[in-house]
Amino acid sequence: MVFDTHAHVSARQFDKDRRQALERATDLGIAFLEVGFNEDSSRKSLALARQTGGFCAVGIHPHDALADEPLETRWQYIESLVLESPRVKAIGEIGLDYFRNLSPKNAQIEAFIMGLDLARRHKLPAIIHQRDASRDVITVIDKHSRDIPIVFHCFSEGIDCARKCLDLGGYIGLGGPLTYPRNGYLRDMLKFVPPDRLLVETDCPWLPPQSKRGRRNEPAYIIEVIETIAEVLGQTPSEISKLTFDNAVRVFANGEQEW
Ligand SMILES: [Zn+2]
Repeated sequence: MVFDTHAHVSARQFDKDRRQALERATDLGIAFLEVGFNEDSSRKSLALARQTGGFCAVGIHPHDALADEPLETRWQYIESLVLESPRVKAIGEIGLDYFRNLSPKNAQIEAFIMGLDLARRHKLPAIIHQRDASRDVITVIDKHSRDIPIVFHCFSEGIDCARKCLDLGGYIGLGGPLTYPRNGYLRDMLKFVPPDRLLVETDCPWLPPQSKRGRRNEPAYIIEVIETIAEVLGQTPSEISKLTFDNAVRVFANGEQEW
């Protein structure tokens, strides 16, 4: 079994062949966590989790931090999804993105803190999106959420930042970018991650692995990420599959295998 800890299969990019993409994943023994990024996509993520017998995360992405409705009301809606179903296994994705800055910094930080507070109230892990904002992300997490598992999704920093994230008890999620030739620094960083803190993900439909670049990503392509990790760490793909699957069960299901 393989566990893709970050997928957006309910995104419109899958509208034409969602069922086939899900079948391709199932055929390869791939389970996945469907991740929301605003109210609408969180509701769709839960719907997909119910439909597939799978699990999901619900949250408000920093890009979506600014909206007409007040953040309190928006987070109340997200919380209603948490209360609605035990299939919600995490709060995310939440975080800070100063690269695209699609929402003002203050709104991003406010939304982020509210997301972490929600995760803590429900003892759920938080899935973090971070770009050009590692310093603020680490400061906010250090202050607001030392007692829940934190997943740094699509980790794309070097060893120094990884060390700080690991010190917060964080997990490192790696996906397609690990397979890109120019990202040798990520493969160096990987060697530094303790085995019990490593997770794999696709972030599909985005960030396909090297051999699929230019195409839409999907959960089945996680195999290439597993193979790359195996090669870098000198282990077999099945060892990496098992390791990262067990880690995902520990983080998202308190060690009780439900997948
Ligand atoms: Zn994502």
